[in-house]
Amino acid sequence: NTPLHELDPEIAAAVDAELDRQQSTLEMIASENFAPLAVMEAQGSVLTNKYAEGYPGRRYYGGCEHVDVAEQIAIDRVKELFGAEYANVQPHSGASANQAALFALAQPGDTILGLDLAHGGHLTHGMRLNFSGKQFDVVAYHVDAETGRVDMAEVERLAKEHRPKVIIAGWSAYPRELDFAEFRRIADEVEAYLWVDMAHFAGLVAAGLHPNPVEHAHVVTSTTHKTLGGPRGGIILAKKEFAKKLNSSVFPGFQGGPLEHVIAAKAVSFKVAASADFKERQQRTVEGARILAERLTAADAREAGVNVLSGGTDVHLILVDLRESELDGQQAEDRLHEVGITVNRNAVPNDPRPPMVTSGLRIGTPALATRGFTAEDFAEVADVIAETLKPSYDAEALKARVRALAGKHPLYPGLNK
Ligand code: PLP
Repeated sequence: NTPLHELDPEIAAAVDAELDRQQSTLEMIASENFAPLAVMEAQGSVLTNKYAEGYPGRRYYGGCEHVDVAEQIAIDRVKELFGAEYANVQPHSGASANQAALFALAQPGDTILGLDLAHGGHLTHGMRLNFSGKQFDVVAYHVDAETGRVDMAEVERLAKEHRPKVIIAGWSAYPRELDFAEFRRIADEVEAYLWVDMAHFAGLVAAGLHPNPVEHAHVVTSTTHKTLGGPRGGIILAKKEFAKKLNSSVFPGFQGGPLEHVIAAKAVSFKVAASADFKERQQRTVEGARILAERLTAADAREAGVNVLSGGTDVHLILVDLRESELDGQQAEDRLHEVGITVNRNAVPNDPRPPMVTSGLRIGTPALATRGFTAEDFAEVADVIAETLKPSYDAEALKARVRALAGKHPLYPGLNK
């Protein structure tokens, strides 16, 4: 029972340094968040020791009576949260959930239609080197070059031309809401299944601030650690008739024993996500992104060659377009890192630069909203970002402003050893 700091000082030092990094910088990677202590407590619990292949009440191991309780609570809560008929809470990650969902809906060699990675889609939606691109015949739809929005006319045209088995709606880098009803209409017309990957915006859906894809799609997948604010992991929601296929696709199809400690942590996060506090936090998240978009489309930002794709945002992130800036995506990411703001570079549609460099940034607000940032704080963050992206930037002054913001909203107080 030796504590980590005694047993393994090297790993303890890395954990401590990461805590310090999270506390002292501004985390604006759109897919990240800070899990509540109670979620981390469940995830670090003795449930990690338990094998429980199978599903609650139907396990291949003895001694599952307590993990059965936790997993059933997770299932019931997430069904209630999103109004789903069926839920599987076992996928180890978003990519695992997507793999299980896709193989439940289609056979290798079938055609799938998803958003191009370079236009905001995810690897698992048909990228060449991913299982989805290797094992399925992929057709990709795009965003319109003018509006920056998904071109639904192209979706319909490609669906009719290629008759995909599955149409995928969902994204990793897209600042607008999708029209799920229209996706479903097109899917029905070509007798395809509609699978929505709501990994990014699930927290907004839970808070009632974003259309709920569960009302339209045959199958919905998500991660639990982005806007939803839980432990790293995945879930699958669906209509009842897909239950058997999805359950067997997850286990024994792709996974062995479920991570019951993570499932318990997911259950805790679903409880949090049903609360009024969570809704208020998601409102600040969306409001913060709107403030960023406004500030980074202002005249002085435009003069520095900075712009915002689609002209704004409906969600928790913005996509900064640097095609007219003297900075490329890599340089802008590095410069923000220098002043203490963490973001990731991101390709813009039809990006002239290579994927390792890019001409854009993806900036998200969920983690800062979780820290308690208000509209006023987000306005200051937006100003700091705009100033940092200007040719004449004062790194020391900007670092001080970042430190002041981080100090105003302490993260995990009391956790430092
Ligand atoms: N789906 C979408 C839309 C995502 O953005 C991501 C993560 O970036 C995933 C799935 C994969 O999640 P994970 O990293 O947990 O495998």
